[in-house]
Amino acid sequence: MNQSKLKELTSKIYYLPFGENYRPNLVAIVGAQITLLVDAGNSPKHAKLFLEELSKCDIAPIKYVALTHWHWDHHFGLAAMNFTSIAHFKTKEKMVELSHFSWDDESIQKRVEEGTENIFVRDGIKQEFPEANRTIQIGTIDISFTEKLEIQLGDLFCIIENVGGDHSSDSSIIFVPEEKVVLTGDCLSPNPYRKDGKIEYRTEKLFPLIDKLKSYNAEYYVNSHGLPMTRTTFEKWCQEFILIGSLVEKQNKQFEEILSELKNKAHKENKAIDDSWLEEKSFIIQAFLNGLD
Ligand SMILES: [Zn+2]
Repeated sequence: MNQSKLKELTSKIYYLPFGENYRPNLVAIVGAQITLLVDAGNSPKHAKLFLEELSKCDIAPIKYVALTHWHWDHHFGLAAMNFTSIAHFKTKEKMVELSHFSWDDESIQKRVEEGTENIFVRDGIKQEFPEANRTIQIGTIDISFTEKLEIQLGDLFCIIENVGGDHSSDSSIIFVPEEKVVLTGDCLSPNPYRKDGKIEYRTEKLFPLIDKLKSYNAEYYVNSHGLPMTRTTFEKWCQEFILIGSLVEKQNKQFEEILSELKNKAHKENKAIDDSWLEEKSFIIQAFLNGLD
């Protein structure tokens, strides 16, 4: 794997790390007979980069590409991937809907003004596809499921399971039991599609989802837009959500009160409070506060 852009998570799971324009981690689960990819990239360019890097590796033939959810950055590259595609039935339905849309600047802007599209999607698409009158071919789904699906890859198998959550009700995770890996997609991110444009976490959705994710017998957790985490790091990371969500909902605390509690806790634990820390915590607190509306 010298000079490869791919990274090894385990000996059977490789990934192209997340990057600019909301490019998510693209993952290859390599069985003895079959390779399955997770997510298709935010553009044909992104998909091709991943396939090119994989072509340098000695892996079983790629047969499947599974999608974690319907958001553009996870499948606008699908048309450049000639494999059997797998997704939750709601992901498939949303993609059929998207296939009727126009994607030139003016059409996207119109949807933003109507409140059906958000500005992050608009800006990400504009950066990834710079030409103003772009056309985008939305890929199609060959196999869909309602709850979960098991796919055999030879010596290993993976389970694709719908878990929902704030971010999108079609969110599905991919669990690889032999490798003790859970690919979580964006399921732990907030809801980006509220009518008022505010992002939102709701404790009644997030808390059970965290319990569900922790219940897998996994040692690694990979969010689409972050570095892979060990179980210990993941559990600590989740604990922050539980703490903030509980302060907002059960104790009815306000923004500044919660932020100062978190600062005190960080001081006690000798953690550095820098701008990115403040930005991250403020974002989460505000998302939970929005969830009370
Ligand atoms: Zn998403």
